[in-house]
Amino acid sequence: MIIANTVEQLEVARQNANKKGQTVGFVPTMGALHEGHMALVRRAKMECDIVVVSVFVNPTQFNNPDDLKLYPRTAQKDAALLTENGCDIAFFPEVEDVYPKGIAIPTVDLGGMDKVMEGAFRPGHFNGVVQVVWRFFDLVKPNKAYFGLKDFQQVAVIQHMVRELSLPLEIVPCPTLREDSGLAMSSRNMRLSEQQKEDAVIIFRTLTKMKSLVSETRPKDLVEMGAKMIDESPLKLEYLQIVDSKTLEALDETWSDSATVCIAAYCGEVRLIDNMTIL
Ligand code: AMP
Repeated sequence: MIIANTVEQLEVARQNANKKGQTVGFVPTMGALHEGHMALVRRAKMECDIVVVSVFVNPTQFNNPDDLKLYPRTAQKDAALLTENGCDIAFFPEVEDVYPKGIAIPTVDLGGMDKVMEGAFRPGHFNGVVQVVWRFFDLVKPNKAYFGLKDFQQVAVIQHMVRELSLPLEIVPCPTLREDSGLAMSSRNMRLSEQQKEDAVIIFRTLTKMKSLVSETRPKDLVEMGAKMIDESPLKLEYLQIVDSKTLEALDETWSDSATVCIAAYCGEVRLIDNMTIL
């Protein structure tokens, strides 16, 4: 595996792949890597000749300075995991490489997608995500890019960006990997105590319970029931919504073709998100 720390090093490695006419799969991450990330890397390796993984904690997508400061950073362990899982080029850039002075990054009208759920509670978050992902796509020039459905709204936003800017690549959404308990794997879980990890399983239980009742209730009654489950646990609910899986519009009285429950909740100081497509 080649480790590229600068844009120039990435360019050299990328051009070698180009010369050989190899297809490139790309997995953007913020590091503190776990099995969920590795599933994306292995899928990319199965479908592409060369796999590029970026490890970069992007400051522009954090609206909470403490969250940015406390975000786990485990670069050496990340590099070892990436080697074991078939990554060809690991890109660990500095902020100055990603955002050099004078860089022009296109803006994308997110059509309100950035105003609901994660967007509503983390103002500016998706603008930061679009910015960094566009920049990485421009540097890496992947044929396919792999994103986890753990970040359901992020996948929708990135797909929207690719359509709006007519970018020549395919977005591959990948299923959420969970612990045996049902807790969605996340870098932020490193900040949870053992007790909190047990407490946090209520999110998965709520999603599963809601899925089991979908044929019997209106969306708004199901939302009420789900919110009650979280409220009765040690977690502090930020939002629980059922949305149309394509438009992200909240469902209230009636169901649409495909519905997804999205939850954000605090477990102690740690903000967790999860979702499940229930219809
Ligand atoms: P992050 O490092 O949290 O920005 O995540 C990098 C990529 O890995 C994103 O596309 C995430 O959706 C994906 N990812 C994170 N956790 C999981 C998981 N538990 N299962 C599948 N994909 C995940």
